[in-house]
Amino acid sequence: MTSLRYGRATLLALVAALLIVPHTAAAQHPTHSAAPVRETATPDRPAYDVSLSGDADGSHWTGRQTVSFRNAARTPLRSVDVRLWGNGSDGCGTSDRPSPVRVGRVEGGTPRPLTVGCTALRIDLPAPLPYGARTSISFDVSITVPDRVHRFGKDGAHRYLGNALPLLSVRDAQGRHLDPDVGFGESFHTLTGDFRVVLDHPDALVVPASGTTTRHAGAPGRTVTTSVARGVRDFAWAAGPFRSKTVTTPGGVRLNAYWTASTPPEGVAKALQDSVGSVDEFGKRFGRYPYGELDLVMSDTLDDFGSMEFPGLVLLWTERDESGAVHEIAHQWFYGIVGNDQFTSPWLDESFAQYAAQLYYREPTATCWEDQGPWPSDTAALTRSMAYYADGHRTEYVRVVYTRGACALHDLERTLGTPAMASMLRGYVRDHWLGVSTTTAFKHAAQAATTKDLGPFWTEHRIS
Ligand SMILES: [Zn+2]
Repeated sequence: MTSLRYGRATLLALVAALLIVPHTAAAQHPTHSAAPVRETATPDRPAYDVSLSGDADGSHWTGRQTVSFRNAARTPLRSVDVRLWGNGSDGCGTSDRPSPVRVGRVEGGTPRPLTVGCTALRIDLPAPLPYGARTSISFDVSITVPDRVHRFGKDGAHRYLGNALPLLSVRDAQGRHLDPDVGFGESFHTLTGDFRVVLDHPDALVVPASGTTTRHAGAPGRTVTTSVARGVRDFAWAAGPFRSKTVTTPGGVRLNAYWTASTPPEGVAKALQDSVGSVDEFGKRFGRYPYGELDLVMSDTLDDFGSMEFPGLVLLWTERDESGAVHEIAHQWFYGIVGNDQFTSPWLDESFAQYAAQLYYREPTATCWEDQGPWPSDTAALTRSMAYYADGHRTEYVRVVYTRGACALHDLERTLGTPAMASMLRGYVRDHWLGVSTTTAFKHAAQAATTKDLGPFWTEHRIS
């Protein structure tokens, strides 16, 4: 999410946001059951086929979603969990204002009651799905964009539909991932899959979306935007009277910039310049950006939210002099291409995105770690989960996961040497390309890059 290199205003806004968001996590129960055997993450290779129709201003989308998937685990798959992350802030809603994301008319399985604040829907399959077999479920979807400035929300005449589309959750060695939305950061964990999303909307709405997008005329006054995104772990779109411009980077990535009328042109130009530079630089560092095109959705009125990454689409709070572009583009690799369980190991994407952005800006980092002073608490550690931060340690989240995490990676670079660090990271990304990494896997990759014992390094930086 939000990059924090961009000054005091961002930090204050984020701290304020952290303080005012209602605390819902403490009421949730632990969601990972112990699993005696190592299990492969499943269901895998999901293929989403979605067709939605939007209303006049893009506030309401309805249609049908089909998801096919394979059971990658040796244990038969008896049910799947669909996550409705769009209900994270509003939960089950009220009688006169229901949940923003609703699912109905389920086929291919039997739905159980919603759980985890109406963000999880378990669907029992008609018969256990054996190892390697494929099946599909389908359901009606109704999405009502909440009236707040947010990644899933409204911004003047613009609508952002991040985390709005129901996604398959993961079952792995840790059990079923049914973590709550804690009101800040991210709790998401998904495997990569393919999406084909058809959005039928009024001609007046410009619709940026993840994936490669084509548009054709629909019914009178309407446009059909079709997006195909392969090897992604989420899908987002926006709708509104955006202005737009497309450029192609020297490295061959098509950047589609969209911005609201109030966003300063200087800010748009700067964000575009930084995006061109960083998508190519990160491509050289970590492996070529695999999706061909990337949408930048920019607004100057995201002060209370910040910026947010989705595969192939970044939502950027864009001011005259700065934006979150580089940090969010770095997330295309760390979260997008190299996935992680963002609830259990938020540092694996945030610290890495922050580190990569600081490399891009050539920021001085020699005293970065020392400058942080003492740890904010005895229990603080880089490898804490969102459950920890939500349980009375919220003020540590940004300081540890973003700031200290990036400093730790700069320290690791000094320990390994810059060429060895670059080579290690390139190999690490390659080894987990479109997959999922863990802290253990990263520590193993780093240790393999040096003859020094990194044990004391991990201890000092509280990486366990
Ligand atoms: Zn981030």
